[in-house]
Amino acid sequence: MSVVEERIERLADLAREAARSGESDLARRYVQRARRLAERNRTDLPRRLKRFSCDRCDAYLVPGRTARVRTRSGHVVVTCDCGEHARYPYGSG
Ligand SMILES: [Zn+2]
Repeated sequence: MSVVEERIERLADLAREAARSGESDLARRYVQRARRLAERNRTDLPRRLKRFSCDRCDAYLVPGRTARVRTRSGHVVVTCDCGEHARYPYGSG
């Protein structure tokens, strides 16, 4: 894992911790920082960060707290507080 990837992983950890303790603005800033790092270095975001962050508002999504999660016909649908939906095939990753 590269230094950049390690930094992104660290930011993902910080975002999750902040979101879990209710610091959603702080969590959003970590998500934005991780996204910028990934873009600048042309690297992919870790899958967990892709999945647990909102494409529209950059919120870190905590199921049951900042996001609603439903399972529907083979898909997991995650709904952010801002109204954005994300769908994932059930059971992947
Ligand atoms: Zn959102």
